[in-house]
Amino acid sequence: MSTQTKEQAILDFDPFEGDFGEPGDSILANKMVTARKPGPCSHCEQEIQKGERVRSMAAKFGDFMRYRWCAACCDAMVAADDDSDDSADPWEAWEARAALRNDQRAQQREG
Ligand SMILES: [Zn+2]
Repeated sequence: MSTQTKEQAILDFDPFEGDFGEPGDSILANKMVTARKPGPCSHCEQEIQKGERVRSMAAKFGDFMRYRWCAACCDAMVAADDDSDDSADPWEAWEARAALRNDQRAQQREG
């Protein structure tokens, strides 16, 4: 898969699974960027490194929102989009990334 094809697959993936969709909601920007500063991923909440290739989205969901997804979550988006292998669960990688977030929250509660 070429980088361009892969990045298009990432951008086509809907990370919100229909959670949003009120009248007036809109996606203002949805693009692949190179991270200029570190910060948490919007899905797994792992730290995004400076220079990492990430998906960036700006949207109006009632409030103005900004999202960034780390490279590993972007890979999981591509996998979720791939239904060429019937035996594999395409959402497995995406769910695994969500589990990382849950682990981190559990650790924060304990700490
Ligand atoms: Zn992530």
